[in-house]
Amino acid sequence: MLALMIFVLPVALKAQPSPDWTTPFPPFHIAGNLYYVGTADLASYLVVTPKGLILINSNLASSPPLIRKGVEALGFKWSDIKILLISHAHYDHCAGSATILKETGAKYEVMDADVSVVESGGRTDFQYGSDATMHFAPAHVDRVLHDADTVSLGGVVLTAHLTAGHTRGTTTWTVDEREGGRLLHVVIVGSPNVNPGYKLVGNAVYPRITADYKHEFAVLNSLPCDIFLGAHGGYFDLKEKYAKFKNGDRDAFIDPGGYKAYVADRSQAFETELARQSGR
Ligand SMILES: [Zn+2]
Repeated sequence: MLALMIFVLPVALKAQPSPDWTTPFPPFHIAGNLYYVGTADLASYLVVTPKGLILINSNLASSPPLIRKGVEALGFKWSDIKILLISHAHYDHCAGSATILKETGAKYEVMDADVSVVESGGRTDFQYGSDATMHFAPAHVDRVLHDADTVSLGGVVLTAHLTAGHTRGTTTWTVDEREGGRLLHVVIVGSPNVNPGYKLVGNAVYPRITADYKHEFAVLNSLPCDIFLGAHGGYFDLKEKYAKFKNGDRDAFIDPGGYKAYVADRSQAFETELARQSGR
């Protein structure tokens, strides 16, 4: 048993790609100006404005054709993407950026602390910098974002909340949408997860990691949320909610309780891992 664990452990230290990352998913209207154009797990969002489109998350290097198919199936033009944003600088959310920027001429707007990671193709990532399997095509950042900066286009305003820890510049996006006469607060969680192998105690490369995660949970707890979304469909039960949505439940993605429960669960997971690493 012990021998088996020794062989299994090095593999388990890395986040494993899931088949759902590349499984196509029907694009659909979430609320107001906001649409889903990702796969069964890698979430991409399209924000539609009279002045063009904003895309959040370019996903894997292989993802842009799939995202494009979704955008066009919804009746929008790929070349109308004016701004590209990301949840955080890991290859499953930003490896497709170089292609999308080239094809659309969009401006790439990235949180300050993730800029060097996207511009180096992952080589300055605090955890995976020397792991070539986590690298991706470098992409130039046109606008460096800072905590609480807004991204505006055609009257739509998104706010970038620095929720670091998972990467140094992990960004949680918020936007208010009107749907059916209601104002709905949308939260797109950047990632609250402590990956296998992350060092929370005595991390010489990223000394602030624990303080950053604590700040992230304080921010996530402070955000008003009606529509709960995130960088992975798994965060917010995309498949289950979409099934309800397809069956006529237009409020399937309105889930303030689910958001609170998710943040509490991830916060507890972080505290448990911190206690384990602290020897408590
Ligand atoms: Zn990640």
